[in-house]
Amino acid sequence: MSVPFHYLLQSAVGREYGSDRHGWSMLDDLFDMWPHVTAAIAILLTALNTYLLGDPQYLGWCVLALAVQLVARAIAKLAYRRRDLADTLDRWLLVFWFTASGSGLLWGLSLSLLLIDATPDARVTILTVGCVMVQSASARAYMAPLPALTQSGLMLAMLLGVTVAHGDLLIVPICVLFVLFQIAYIRRLIQLRLAQMQAESEKNTLLNQLERTNSELKLANERLARHALTDGLTGLPNRRHFDRSLSEMLARATRRRQSFSLVLIDVDQFKRFNDTHGHLAGDGCLAAVGKAMAQTIRGTDVIARYGGEEFALLLPETGKDAARALTENLRRAIAAVDLSHLPGSPASVTASLGIASKSADEITSAEQLIACADEALYAAKHEGRDCVRHADDLPRETTLRA
Ligand code: GH3
Ligand code: MG
Ligand code: MG
Repeated sequence: MSVPFHYLLQSAVGREYGSDRHGWSMLDDLFDMWPHVTAAIAILLTALNTYLLGDPQYLGWCVLALAVQLVARAIAKLAYRRRDLADTLDRWLLVFWFTASGSGLLWGLSLSLLLIDATPDARVTILTVGCVMVQSASARAYMAPLPALTQSGLMLAMLLGVTVAHGDLLIVPICVLFVLFQIAYIRRLIQLRLAQMQAESEKNTLLNQLERTNSELKLANERLARHALTDGLTGLPNRRHFDRSLSEMLARATRRRQSFSLVLIDVDQFKRFNDTHGHLAGDGCLAAVGKAMAQTIRGTDVIARYGGEEFALLLPETGKDAARALTENLRRAIAAVDLSHLPGSPASVTASLGIASKSADEITSAEQLIACADEALYAAKHEGRDCVRHADDLPRETTLRA
């Protein structure tokens, strides 16, 4: 990936890389004091080496320059830490540029002061330490290339000045090559960092996409599951939902030693209703009956569309008498359903209802319970419709026929 020139130009203080958050975290790092303490120790050791190999007359000035550099950086760090929250990133990048240049100047000054009257051996050490510091500064501050190069340039220029003054001209082409190397080095580091940031951002985009797709998939699955268990016409639980709820409720009733009731509801003369008012009105009637029943039952009961114009009501923890009362309420609610909005009205509807109730000990199977409720429903139909019959109240021979 190549970095266009204008990009490098804009990146003078590393402003355009990534978000502001990236910028501030880069500055947190750049204002760190420890690299400066390390650099000061390296220069002090160089000063000691120079002192041991000769008798440098500017040793005191060298240490003073170093102390000023450290104090200035400490003040800059303190100011950065206490910065106003409203401060802009650009402002502090410029402050960093300024302090980095100051450091370059003072490091260059302290090493140059040592270099002035150092022995040839000591000179080699001083120049080596200078080069290592330039290299480290470039590696640390590569995302702010112009401050890094200004700092290195100032250091190198001062060391170069003193070395040339000693008559050592070969250092000039070496320094030029070194600066070119630094530029190539910083450029390469920036390229790598940009590629890494791009990869990170692509990864985040993909992760976001994946998260979105997952939640869409989850919603679609939930919708599908709801659909699979809901009757389209009435919005009530469908036959599959009924079967599942019935076996769960029966198992719970047996476990908890509770009684259980089941009611089968069949709309009366519905074929005639369709023939008289039309199938559309028939559909509307079933929806209205379903709605009325859903509004009449308790929160723990389940009313489902059993099939066609038949419904089923599950009554957990409900014995014979309570089931009778509830079912009678249901019958009245159905008979009172307002159908005036349907095409072909006036129309009215009634239903016949059959109940089966079992104590925990009597529960054998879902099929047995359904058969009993069906018997009761059959009796209700037989006895004139629009009425409630309980399986336990049927004449014995009728029950045996089931
Ligand atoms: P009974 O009182 O004995 O139950 O008589 P019925 O006419 O209700 O019973 P039958 O089983 O003879 O007819 C049931 C009718 O219900 C026939 C069928 O077309 C109608 N039906 C079933 N499902 C639907 C539906 O979803 N919409 C409409 N409009 N009619 C339906
Ligand atoms: Mg029927
Ligand atoms: Mg019917």
